[in-house]
Amino acid sequence: MALLTLNNVNTFYGQIQALKDVTLEVNAGEIVALVGANGAGKTTLLNTISGLLPAKSGTIQFDNQSLNQKSAAQIVKAGISHVPEHRQVFGDMTVHDNLLLGAYQRYRKVGMKKVEADIDWVYNIFPRLKERREQFSRTMSGGEQQMLAIGRGMMARPKLMLFDEPSLGLAPLIVKDLFEVISNLRSEGMTILLVEQNARAALRLADRGYVLETGSVELEGEAEALLSDDRVQKAYLGG
Ligand code: ATP
Repeated sequence: MALLTLNNVNTFYGQIQALKDVTLEVNAGEIVALVGANGAGKTTLLNTISGLLPAKSGTIQFDNQSLNQKSAAQIVKAGISHVPEHRQVFGDMTVHDNLLLGAYQRYRKVGMKKVEADIDWVYNIFPRLKERREQFSRTMSGGEQQMLAIGRGMMARPKLMLFDEPSLGLAPLIVKDLFEVISNLRSEGMTILLVEQNARAALRLADRGYVLETGSVELEGEAEALLSDDRVQKAYLGG
């Protein structure tokens, strides 16, 4: 069943059209990879879903409601967490406070006890964050900051998580751990839309994938089929 559906979505920066009639679906429980070259529009697509950029036309449906007129804050409330490119953790705040902020839109409703329990849930998945709970996040390594950005996203208790280039700048061993974490999040019931330049790793992890070229969906299909597709191999897998 589709959790997220985009239909003919068009997004512009002034006169420049960055997304052209993008239609895609993410089903509940899936990991979907979105791959494409620099400037293909991957970040623009995630920003359009999470309400940071307005779609000029087209529809975005999530969990049986329209996201078109909703603010970024309302979209978080609806159940979408965006783990942005370059982590964007709050550097002058501690690890613990960054996590608390991730629950900002729900702590009044659910109460601090529940929020503390969710922080324990995050610490359980990322023991390193627990060790570093009082450390300013700007002093953490790239990999640790990525874990924190993911943990902060988890604190909204989302149904869908959007990941923008989580592997960027990380050592291969850390990338391996990171992809394992993403796979575990799916086992915890989350649905995942993953943007990656590391197309091979992303498609190995994903159930299905979309290839974006200059703002348009050029290919889509089962991840395995995309991995062995000649065009994907030539353009993105060095084949
Ligand atoms: P990368 O992998 O390099 O981050 P991407 O696939 O995420 O690339 P986007 O960042 O979404 O690509 O950019 C898509 C297009 O929109 C590019 O041509 C880019 O130059 C343009 N663009 C992005 N942000 C802006 C902006 N703020 N103003 C004008 N044009 C922009």
